[in-house]
Amino acid sequence: APATTGTAETSGAEPGSADAGDGNARTANAAYVGRFAPSPTGDLHLGSLYTAVASYLDARAHSGRWLLRVEDLDRPREIPGSTDAILATLEVFGFEWDGAVIRQSARHDYYAAAIERLRERGLLFECSCSRQDLAEEERYPGTCREGPRLAGAATGSRLRVEPRQIHFIDRIQGHFRQDVAAACGDILLKRRDRIYAYVLAVVVDDAGSGVTHVLRGADLLDNTPRQIYLQQALGLPTPTYAHIPLISEPDGAKLAKSKRSVRLDANTPAAQLRRVFDLLGLAPPADLAQVSIEAAWRWAIAHWELRRVPKSLCLPLTLGAQLPD
Ligand code: GLU
Repeated sequence: APATTGTAETSGAEPGSADAGDGNARTANAAYVGRFAPSPTGDLHLGSLYTAVASYLDARAHSGRWLLRVEDLDRPREIPGSTDAILATLEVFGFEWDGAVIRQSARHDYYAAAIERLRERGLLFECSCSRQDLAEEERYPGTCREGPRLAGAATGSRLRVEPRQIHFIDRIQGHFRQDVAAACGDILLKRRDRIYAYVLAVVVDDAGSGVTHVLRGADLLDNTPRQIYLQQALGLPTPTYAHIPLISEPDGAKLAKSKRSVRLDANTPAAQLRRVFDLLGLAPPADLAQVSIEAAWRWAIAHWELRRVPKSLCLPLTLGAQLPD
């Protein structure tokens, strides 16, 4: 990956006002590199916008860099056209990412190199278990640790995980501890169908881009100790983490993306940003819905405070639904 240390430039440009696509145009804080990493499995909706806005505001409020990474590894699950649709929506909402869009589909060599590094250190083993074989298991039971159970079958690669507490302090959720061996066991890094696992790609890419601050949805809180374990196995630094609540249906169920309330309307971006700022605890003034998108961002960057984000794992939408929008 190209080095992404922003060249300090004293142009006096405000955060958020630099040209998209020019990694060196803004006054960058080299100690903060954030990112948004959507999967191209559908267009952005209120839930993903919420995450994107929070990570953008946290980066810009720290005069940091903000990268955009499309997680298009799992080609079979990808929805055609969805990468373009996501980028177009982000542009309509006025996001300005630094540098070129990173695409995981173009980074297989890096994932392969990481796998080889782990293999050389004796930390990997080949596993012939199918998803079905493991469907009843809470964690990987170690079936192929001493060699693939099915000789001659296609195999995936797993990281040997030893019992050890992984502890980190999430900037929103606080202390989090997990023994990865007890929680999930040996971690699948490359599937039998040769697709690299999310956990490998995210660790390799965050390090490759020099990401220092990960802010993402709380559905990944539980996965974070696995990522830290893998970082340690690869000798990579651990970024700081902040997991924001997942927006859910009023009853706590997974957000129904088909509902009108969560679909994004490209005609009223400022009004929708205002709604998201409200869900992030920023208490935006009512008239922010009428201002230009640039003015809406300027207001939010100036008023961003991570401590105002709800400290739950889940944020039922009732709150937002009652707001005029
Ligand atoms: N691509 C993941 C998703 O859309 C996010 C990964 C991450 O932020 O680490 O859920």
